Amino acid sequence: AVQNNPNTTLVTPTAPIKNETHGGRAKCLQRLVRLDLPVPPTVAISFQAVQRIATGDMPDVAAVVAEMPEGALMCVRPSSQDPDWGGPGAVLNIGINNQRFQELCESIGEEAAAAIYTRFVQSYAVNVARLDPDMFDDVTGDGRSALAQSLHAYEVETEEEFPQDPTVQLTAVLRSMARAWDGTSARLLRQAKGAPGDAGLGLVVQEMAFGVGQGQCGSGVLQLVDSETGLPQITGRYLSQSQGRDALQGDAATMYLTKDPRGPSLEELAPEAFKELVEHAALMRRKLRAEMQVEFVIEDGKLHILDGVRVARSSRAAVRIAVALADEGIIPREEALMRVQPRTLTELLHRQVEPGAKRDVIGRGIAASPGAATGKMVFSATDAQASASRGENCILIRRETSPEDIRGMHAAVAVLTERGGITSHAAVIGRGMGLPCVVGASNLKFNARRKQLITSDGRVFNEGDEITVDGSSGEIIAGAVEMREAALDDNFTRLMAWAEDAADIGIRANADTPADAQTARNFDAHGIGLCRTEHMFFDPGRLTVMREMIFAETGEDRRAVLERLLPMQRDDFTQLFRIMQGQPVCIRLFDPPLHEFLPMDKAGQRELADALDLPLSNVTRRIEAMSEYNPMLGLRGVRLGVTVPEIYEMQARAIFEATIEASRDGEPVVPEIMIPLVSAKREVELVKTSIDAVAAAVRNEQDAIFTYRLGVMVETPRAALRAAEIAPNCAFLSFGTNDLTQMTYGLSRDDAGRFMSDYVQQGVFAEDPFHVLDTDGVGELLQLGAARGRQAQPGITLSICGEHGGNPESIAFCRDAGFDYVSCSPFRVPVARLAAAQLAI
Ligand code: PEP
Ligand code: MG
Repeated sequence: AVQNNPNTTLVTPTAPIKNETHGGRAKCLQRLVRLDLPVPPTVAISFQAVQRIATGDMPDVAAVVAEMPEGALMCVRPSSQDPDWGGPGAVLNIGINNQRFQELCESIGEEAAAAIYTRFVQSYAVNVARLDPDMFDDVTGDGRSALAQSLHAYEVETEEEFPQDPTVQLTAVLRSMARAWDGTSARLLRQAKGAPGDAGLGLVVQEMAFGVGQGQCGSGVLQLVDSETGLPQITGRYLSQSQGRDALQGDAATMYLTKDPRGPSLEELAPEAFKELVEHAALMRRKLRAEMQVEFVIEDGKLHILDGVRVARSSRAAVRIAVALADEGIIPREEALMRVQPRTLTELLHRQVEPGAKRDVIGRGIAASPGAATGKMVFSATDAQASASRGENCILIRRETSPEDIRGMHAAVAVLTERGGITSHAAVIGRGMGLPCVVGASNLKFNARRKQLITSDGRVFNEGDEITVDGSSGEIIAGAVEMREAALDDNFTRLMAWAEDAADIGIRANADTPADAQTARNFDAHGIGLCRTEHMFFDPGRLTVMREMIFAETGEDRRAVLERLLPMQRDDFTQLFRIMQGQPVCIRLFDPPLHEFLPMDKAGQRELADALDLPLSNVTRRIEAMSEYNPMLGLRGVRLGVTVPEIYEMQARAIFEATIEASRDGEPVVPEIMIPLVSAKREVELVKTSIDAVAAAVRNEQDAIFTYRLGVMVETPRAALRAAEIAPNCAFLSFGTNDLTQMTYGLSRDDAGRFMSDYVQQGVFAEDPFHVLDTDGVGELLQLGAARGRQAQPGITLSICGEHGGNPESIAFCRDAGFDYVSCSPFRVPVARLAAAQLAI
């Protein structure tokens, strides 16, 4: 009957069952059947059929029942395309009724039979008939009495007899599971895990193997590796006289699997079955080419294999497992690279609090996602986004999180919630993103309205205060703490080396400080793609000099102050060149508006007047005069280079002198100098002339030989459109997609956070375009600019250095557009490299 029906298919070695039509569980069961493992008879119901079932259009359920051995009980389990997308819980023991109960009393004993029937009545009432679970609160005792009470409660509540026909029971179960998949919360949950809106659900109906009855009976799971470390080790759980997921309940009195001095083990109690089980698991590992968790039942000493799923694994274990399978020749290296999700690497890469560090612990919760981070407290997703767009690290603090908070989580460096457990939304999503997360910090009082966190001893922390969240220990710490960089093991290094071999697009890092550069170097970045030099001036020791420079009345005065900044810049660059050891370093000339360096408050202005020995009114007047209506579109970037040329001249000199210095003890350095915010060819010509002159002067003074590469940062739409006339003066074009996105949309990157979630929720933007490159609009400018630039200057180096450089989807776009490299924050280099490798495979 069912064999010929593509929608309800008996799982045989040759049945047409696919992941995309019947789901991963159905496909896996077919593989187990092909391996001739002792799998009970199974029928797979397709996505299409389940979709129809949800609307009430039932397939031939009687035919499904007919595939099961006479009088067998059944279970139904979900089979989605990707097991991570979840699905409704399994329903066990379908088909039990008064008559079958009597028969079971004979075969497995009254107690076990009554427990099975009771369990089914209760789960059917709650999950299928959607009755209130409280209705069974009064059921007392066990055995026949509990069964009779449960049946009675059901009948009182529904005014119907408990359904006796297995076909009727199965029909109702299938319908309720199909509908559960369609529910809003299930949909949101799986979409948060990356499932498409129309993801399908398959169902598998299987003959029940009883884990209860005479002799050694029970159920459990077994795997051959440790989920945390990925090292070989038989682990799992087994519970005598149990079914379904009983053995997996946290408090279940499970047995050891292998011999153990502390208590009885499955290996001793059912040696034959255990041996067979381990052999089957090893066969599954080899043939299914993955570490599998085997779900099994032992029925009077006889082994049944119900299912196999890929073992749950930490990020570390995922890498270890992929590398080990490749080393054993079970999968090729390319496959190993495909097995690790780029984003999960982030978890391995996170910093941890230095074990011996002094810490002021203000609260504790559940350590839900490893790694530690320090940031300013914010109390909403919108504030988190606003904070991120200002380039500030923030900690998102919520009572609990919901899917609307995901964007805020992306913007935060860590998440802290008052409620929830290890499987709460914040915990699951945090782990998925590799974001440090502590949940259920119930000894802290959260006041979202006042934006305050109050400790149990009354200390108050306000929005903007700095705290550290340690997702590895569950501690919440006041202020910043000493951190230890991520410990990356040999497996990680090897996987990265394979990725390096496979990838066909370069990965550089955005690095402004020696520490950033060292991280980039440790991850084997192919150089620095963007060094934002202005970050070097915010150092307190330099800020006053910087301000003095800004306040200089004449070019000459300004040059005099710049003389004092020169050695500082030269040291910065020498360090970067030395750390990068001959890898290219792309230095961007000064970019922000000058007034960003000036104090906005009266106290700061008074201090400045004091430091510069000027009347306060003079300082205030100058600051007012410099203020702009729209600073991001005002006097910044190359516009400063053209109108205040002394700054770029000083920077160029510092770069060239550092070049000579660093080349003395290593390979000759060829610095890359990048001009920001260009929109016209003439801007480049002017800056080029002046930098060439500085280069000639330095060569002359020091009698040294060096070259340099000059390039343009394409971050205005006009620069992309006019790339053909800009490119001839350039060795490279680097697309600054942060500003380019801002200007293409006419959307302030500093303010968009306030309403971005509304925009995404209402479907105006599919994603935040500052996070995932808008390939339609901004992407078209990238393609245009790249093509025009390349045509005018064949061989010109093309790259992207906006935040998008570390985003796998955006990397795919840049690779398709023929870019030479992407540049992203140092910690994202491995993620970007793995993503690039996967694209090339
Ligand atoms: C950009 O605009 O994309 C960029 C990388 O520069 P910044 O973020 O410093 O403006
Ligand atoms: Mg920019």
